[in-house]
Amino acid sequence: MHLLDLSDGQLEAWLAERDQPAFRARQIRRWLFASRATDFADMTDLPAGLRDQLAADFRLWTTGVAAHHVDPDGTEKLLFELADGQQIESVLLRDGTRRTICISTQVGCAMGCVFCATGLDGVVRNLTRGEIVEQMLRLARLLPPGEGHAPAERLSHIVVMGMGEPLANLDALLPALGEAESKDGLGISPRRITISTVGLPAAIDRLSDLGTKYNLAVSLHAADDELRERLVPVGKKIALADILAAADRYFDVSGRRLTFEYVLLAEVNDREEDARRLARLLAGRGALLNLIPYNAVAGLPYQTPSEARTRKFIAILERQGVNVQTRRRKGAKIDAACGQLRRIKGEVPSTVVPLSG
Ligand code: SAH
Ligand code: SF4
Repeated sequence: MHLLDLSDGQLEAWLAERDQPAFRARQIRRWLFASRATDFADMTDLPAGLRDQLAADFRLWTTGVAAHHVDPDGTEKLLFELADGQQIESVLLRDGTRRTICISTQVGCAMGCVFCATGLDGVVRNLTRGEIVEQMLRLARLLPPGEGHAPAERLSHIVVMGMGEPLANLDALLPALGEAESKDGLGISPRRITISTVGLPAAIDRLSDLGTKYNLAVSLHAADDELRERLVPVGKKIALADILAAADRYFDVSGRRLTFEYVLLAEVNDREEDARRLARLLAGRGALLNLIPYNAVAGLPYQTPSEARTRKFIAILERQGVNVQTRRRKGAKIDAACGQLRRIKGEVPSTVVPLSG
C-alpha cells in the first residue's frame, strides 16, 4: 500500500487502530512535505515501534527516478519508473522567481491530438493519487532548501499540463491537488494551480459543481469544428460550442479568468482566416489566449510557424480585442517542452536512482 494513496481520514483510522493519536498523521505529513524525509526511519519524533509498523504496512515511495535531465535554461525533467514498469515524465520550470511544476496524470493519453508526443501510443492507465502526489514531492525536492548563504527556492505554481488528460482522471487528481493546497501539504493556493484540458464538458461541469477555484486552461487548437476534429480526434464527439459553454459556466462559478490554449501549426491552423474565426469565437469572453508555437516531435510532420506569421496571427486577434500571450518555450533541449513528454517504450532502464535529500 502506498502511503500517499491514503486520505487524512484513512491514515488517522489506521493510527487509531494502533492506539495512536490523530496528531501523528500531521507529524507524518510534516516529515514528508516540509522536512524531506526519505524513509520512515527519518521520522524521529514518532515512537520507534510506530515507525516499524508504518514500514511494515506501507511503501513511502512507489516510483523510482530513472533519469534526471537539466536544461541550461533551468528546466529540469524527471523520468519516473512506476511500480509496474510504466514510465512518465514531469517537469520543474524556473522563470524569474516563479517555480512551477508540471505534472502528469496518465501513462499516455487517449485523446490522440495529432501533434502531441504523449498521445502517439494511446493511454495505458490512469495514475493513482499517490503517484501524482509523489511527482509533486520529488519535483519540489529538486529545489534547494536554502542552506548557509544560498537562498531557498520556493515552489510557487503547479500546472497539470504533463502527460495525459487530467479531466479523464479527476478521481485521483482532485485528492492529489487537495494535498497540494493543504497547509500541511505543499500549501499552494488554488489560484496558483492550473488544470489544462482538451475540453471535456461533463468533467468541466463537475469542477463547476464542486466549486473548485483552480485556473482552467482549455486547449482549443481550432476555431471551427471541422478543423478541430482533424487535430483533436476526441473532438469528433464534442462540439466547440459545448466546450465553450462548459468553460463559461466554470468562469461564472469560479470567477477565475479562463485561458484558452492554441498550438500554432504552420499552414494548418495559423492562417489569417483561422485568426479571424478565433477572434470571433473569443470575442467578449475576457479570456486569455495562450498561443503555443508547435514544439517539434520526432516523426511528426508539423512545422513551427515563422515569427512573422505568428506576429500576423497575433495582430489580427489583438485588433479584435483578444488578450494574447505567447508561451515561451522552456526545456526544449531536454524534450521537456509542451507536447514533448512521452513514455519511453521498449527497455526499462535498469538503474533506478534512489531519492536523496
Ligand atoms: N491533455 C491536456 C494537458 C496536457 S497537454 C491538454 O491537452 O490540454 C498541455 C498543452 O500542450 C496542451 O495545450 C497541448 O495542446 C499542448 N501541446 C501538445 N503537443 C504540443 C506540441 N507538440 N507543441 C506545443 N504544444 C503542444
Ligand atoms: Fe492528450 Fe493533451 Fe496530448 Fe491531446 S495534447 S494527446 S489531450 S496530452
